[in-house]
Amino acid sequence: MNTKDELLGTAASIATSVAPTASARVRLRPVDGRGVTIRDGLLADRQRVNRTVTLLHGAEELERAGTLENLRIAAGRASGERRGMIFSDSDVYKWLEALAWEVGREPSAELESLACETTELVAAAQEPDGYLNSWCQVLDPAWRWTDLEMGHELYCAGHLIQAGIAQNRATGDASLLAVARRFADLIDDVFRGGPVKSTDGHPEIEVALVELFRHTGERRYLELADTLTTRRGHGTFANGRFDLDYYQDAEPVRDARAIVGHAVRALYLAAGATDLYAETGDEALLRSMLRQWDDLTAAKLYLTGGVGSRHHGEAIGDPYELPPDRAYCETCASIASMMWNWRMLLVTGESRFADLFERTLYNGFLSGHSLDGASFFYANPLQSRNGVRRHAWNPVACCPPNIMRQLASLQQYLATMSETGIQLHQYAASTIRAVAGHAGPVELAVETDYPWSGQVAVEVVAPGEGEWTLSLRIPAWARGASVDGASVPAGDYATLTRRWRAGDRVVVELDMSPRLTAPNPRIDAVRGCVALERGPIVYCVEQHDLPSGVDLADVAVDAAADPVDGGPVGELGGVPGVTLAGTVRDADGWRRAEYRDLRQLREQAPAGPARLTAVPYFAWANREEGAMRVWIPASE
Ligand SMILES: [Zn+2]
Repeated sequence: MNTKDELLGTAASIATSVAPTASARVRLRPVDGRGVTIRDGLLADRQRVNRTVTLLHGAEELERAGTLENLRIAAGRASGERRGMIFSDSDVYKWLEALAWEVGREPSAELESLACETTELVAAAQEPDGYLNSWCQVLDPAWRWTDLEMGHELYCAGHLIQAGIAQNRATGDASLLAVARRFADLIDDVFRGGPVKSTDGHPEIEVALVELFRHTGERRYLELADTLTTRRGHGTFANGRFDLDYYQDAEPVRDARAIVGHAVRALYLAAGATDLYAETGDEALLRSMLRQWDDLTAAKLYLTGGVGSRHHGEAIGDPYELPPDRAYCETCASIASMMWNWRMLLVTGESRFADLFERTLYNGFLSGHSLDGASFFYANPLQSRNGVRRHAWNPVACCPPNIMRQLASLQQYLATMSETGIQLHQYAASTIRAVAGHAGPVELAVETDYPWSGQVAVEVVAPGEGEWTLSLRIPAWARGASVDGASVPAGDYATLTRRWRAGDRVVVELDMSPRLTAPNPRIDAVRGCVALERGPIVYCVEQHDLPSGVDLADVAVDAAADPVDGGPVGELGGVPGVTLAGTVRDADGWRRAEYRDLRQLREQAPAGPARLTAVPYFAWANREEGAMRVWIPASE
């Protein structure tokens, strides 16, 4: 009989971005990503586009933007001016992480050669003492550690560490990991053992250092993560350009009662603090994470899972400050939220975290990536009056390579394992090999057209030895759900404990009828509006799908009529549309003035009827530019 550690996999041997140690406080453990394949459907399609288009597009754009050239200059292989943002080295590291997961998923000589060549360049750019940051190296080496507020040196190091771990776990190649460790060792010497008693204005390194501890077994990295996390909240950046919330420096992490400040910083820090709890058992961190999650989901989260209400400071706003048109919802914030929710799921085993992961995945995350894979959104608003064109690359290019690494590793997030069995959290046509506790290795084949169909069939291909529990997430959005014909409650896992046999089949049915969603009345910006959802997908209406002569600004939805499934929208790859009953306001009077006497308005002729076609929000802005809205006024 194998030991528990051998069954569950040790940290260093499992190919996944999060690999808690054997003693970590987690209820669920990630499965080895190499044992999971998404075979078909929407997520498989997005992975295919990422592999065949986006990763290669990334190589071209990193070259065009000078991001790779900056490293060549730092390495002494080229001369010239450094170009791009202060943190642009991190774009290369995220892209390298994406290449690693992708090559691990399926070999590719082309992608391997890009990864190999770029890893060698990164290694060549590293200083003999381990320092690596082309901004300081090229512009002025004396700037090292002098601008922790905005310099992003540790932020970039965090992405380097994550890429090094990914490359080693996915492909076995340890060369980028060696570069990352040399830099991490220097940072530890300087920040914990040496003169610098501060931290970085942009969290990211915390989550990376905990993983480096998990991967190498070296405790100094965990202690450094703890030190850098604990240094926050004492006003280190009191004289900075932004307020302390922006830097996650207004309140110690363990004391925080609310989630505030720059959305990506807040969420990366939360992911790191959750990992730190998992490895140290520091309950104050977990309590803070639960408070912040409650605060986020009670009053600061967009329907799409997006986070960030303000362009100024890229910030999470006040409670209920959720304007659809001015929504920031940076794609990186959606990714950071998925990172945090995944870790909260592992720690607690509660389905609400997998629910939010799903909401974010299918809406606020996928919206950042065009259907053809070659353009991106940085901000993901829920309303646009004139339409927006996606960028082939952004001057601040944090989002595109972040999308790439998330898509290349998506198979890691479908399932987990525990001592008692296997848990399925995200449904996709897939093959899942995992270890069902003492029942040993099992294999499941999932057949489904999710998220378009609510029917999910799970077949046991290899049943393991003895009894174990299959847990199936029943999303909180489901109005009705059944497992093998028996009704089950939404918002929890349905569990089946059996001595399984090869060929056993379980069928989950989730009610996917389109549904109208009302906002909390305290959200002033969308009061009186409704949104449309179908399964996990948030829908929107685009000007493109309205009859000619009808302006999206004049449209209302009949909230008393049930939306019904429409046909596939061919221009958007056949995604299913949904038809809404609505009205078109007689806007003529309004076009002459902004404001009118309320009594005159009441006398206005009734609006005419209209049938509206809604499309998945993530697929918007893939045709010609035009208006879009998620929240639509309900007709009176
Ligand atoms: Zn970004």
